[in-house]
Amino acid sequence: MDDKDLLDRLRVSGDPDLSSHDPSETFGWERDEAEAMFADELAELIELQEKLFAAKSASLLVVLQAMDAAGKDSTIRAVMSGLNPAGVDVQPFGVPTEEESGHDYLWRVHAHAPEDGYITVFNRSHYEDVLVVRVKSFAPEKVWKRRYEHIRNFEQMLVDEGTHVVKIFLNVSKDKQKERFEERLERPDKRWKFRAGDLDDRALWDEYMDAYTEAMQKTSTDDAPWYVVPADRKWARNVCIARILRHHLERIDPKYPEPDAEIDFDDITVT
Ligand code: AMP
Ligand code: MG
Repeated sequence: MDDKDLLDRLRVSGDPDLSSHDPSETFGWERDEAEAMFADELAELIELQEKLFAAKSASLLVVLQAMDAAGKDSTIRAVMSGLNPAGVDVQPFGVPTEEESGHDYLWRVHAHAPEDGYITVFNRSHYEDVLVVRVKSFAPEKVWKRRYEHIRNFEQMLVDEGTHVVKIFLNVSKDKQKERFEERLERPDKRWKFRAGDLDDRALWDEYMDAYTEAMQKTSTDDAPWYVVPADRKWARNVCIARILRHHLERIDPKYPEPDAEIDFDDITVT
């Protein structure tokens, strides 16, 4: 499947019918093949990031959202590996602190938007303010309903000012989440990842899916699109994510800065 077909399948336009997105989709790839494709994609990403960092004329913001155990952390580890750490920032957003709660919900997020040359990954984001806040009734409907428009305007402002915005929903199945939770419970080295509250969120699965659907439908734009990435198989997921990022970095089309015109490079010797 070529890049365009794949991206068209993943990109959200209009109403994202989650039931038409299979979390275990493999797009016809075998595991070995997908792993080799991913390695090639990473090599491309490394070069593009190098140029982005050198050019310092635009930035990329990647928003990662998902249910627990969908693989946000492992996605970041896989896809960011090999990139120049000097040009990458990973920013997690958890339960707001007292100071954060005292401000508007975009305040803490805006402060971490990338500067020119950088790729920033948000591990959760301002979308929690129309997801968990809605599902758990932390704010009344009247309050979260109007946030879709704030978010669209906020992201458009970032885009207008030079930040490319990409939003990815890791679409894990409820069965796969169960499997991964069980592994977290069984394996002592994985228990730290498990919180009691994870089961409360799991019990609200359908409500979360409704909230994700509406959030994506209301905020996926040409300039700041959402993608639904199948997340049950990590190797298929990695290829999808790498292709999405490559596509957006290619849209930025970063170029190495012009060398100093005053220097005659052919006529210089280092002694
Ligand atoms: P994790 O990303 O799994 O480490 O967990 C972070 C937790 O913070 C999740 O349970 C989120 O639902 C929660 N969280 C993130 N943002 C907000 C928010 N704005 N309001 C309430 N809870 C939030
Ligand atoms: Mg968690």
